Amino acid sequence: MPMVALTGGIASGKTAVSDRLAALGIPVVDTDLIARDVVAPGTPGLAAVETAFGPAVLRPDGALDRKALGSKVFQNAAARERLEGILHPLIEAEARVRVRRLPAAPYCVLVVPLLVESGLFADADLVVVVDVPETLQRQRLAARDGVDDLTVDRILAAQAKREVRLARADRVIENTGSPADLKDRVDRLHADLLEHFGPRP
Ligand code: ATP
Repeated sequence: MPMVALTGGIASGKTAVSDRLAALGIPVVDTDLIARDVVAPGTPGLAAVETAFGPAVLRPDGALDRKALGSKVFQNAAARERLEGILHPLIEAEARVRVRRLPAAPYCVLVVPLLVESGLFADADLVVVVDVPETLQRQRLAARDGVDDLTVDRILAAQAKREVRLARADRVIENTGSPADLKDRVDRLHADLLEHFGPRP
């Protein structure tokens, strides 16, 4: 089944887009959820993270202490690379298992927020980028998560620049209008993808 990778910066509207595609009957696999599952208590992923970063990254109940882990990799590129070296192969493998198990459909969608940054899923059949100008992205992020300007700066600095992401796009969904506009755009994208992946006459 063709695999469409859906990406975009934080709060660009990836969830809104993937929810609409799911409502249209397209199966969706979300790598953000997988990223949590691969370090759930009792997993080999969590054991590998503990071995690499020490028992202080676990909470007393045995679950991953994301804050403690975050402080170890924050502003430490080598530690971050080490963590990604553990997590990325696990995320990629699990995503491929889930894609294989999906019900048949004209195409499936894999939501990969850090597609550009991670180099994951380079073999996707098509890349869709949800795009918003940075000012709007900042407004929506601040409104949704209640974070201050400094936090927004820090998050955006850690992500690929808009132009770099757009350079990877086979299709772009601009999410500058209302939610109703977005729905229309996603419906048009869906029709386009059905034709793109559909049987040739
Ligand atoms: P994340 O990167 O954090 O996973 P995301 O890319 O999935 O975020 P959404 O959660 O879909 O983005 O959208 C971010 C916020 O912007 C949400 O609060 C959502 O309701 C709002 N939003 C999305 N699209 C629109 C729109 N067209 N008009 C107004 N608000 C919108």
